[in-house]
Amino acid sequence: MVKGTQVAKSAPVTEDDVYRVLSLVSDPEMPGVSVVDLGMVDAVSVTPDGIQVTLIPTFVGCPALEIMREDAFRRLVAALSDRATAIRVVFTSRTGWTSDRIRPACHAALRSRGIAPPPPPDALPHCPWCGSSDVVAESLFGPAACRSIYYCRACRNPFEGLKRLS
Ligand SMILES: [Zn+2]
Repeated sequence: MVKGTQVAKSAPVTEDDVYRVLSLVSDPEMPGVSVVDLGMVDAVSVTPDGIQVTLIPTFVGCPALEIMREDAFRRLVAALSDRATAIRVVFTSRTGWTSDRIRPACHAALRSRGIAPPPPPDALPHCPWCGSSDVVAESLFGPAACRSIYYCRACRNPFEGLKRLS
């Protein structure tokens, strides 16, 4: 055996490895809500040539998108570059993102941050604090392009709601 050679070769990268890393990539404005939760992962390809992750842009023009792409790239390099030759993270325009891609399990995480998940078509969201449907839209232009501000008449709290995109 040549000195310095590893006895056990590290296992090849799997799609699960890639998803595990992607589950750590959060929307900078919604910490803990990952690109996987948001349904932004279109495809993960693992070949002898390397890893390619294809993401679906949510709200076009959202400044968080590029931050998330770079975060995904850096985390994949940090976690898997010793086992993969090339790593690419790209956006696609082939698949359109809709609100329905958000994982239902993610809705509770959004509510716990005071953010209402996108409501059904032509409906207002329920208050993330108390669950009431007695809400009014305060402003269609929230702090981010993807969010609106509402006011709950039941518990008298303002809250943010993700806009519906279908
Ligand atoms: Zn309320």
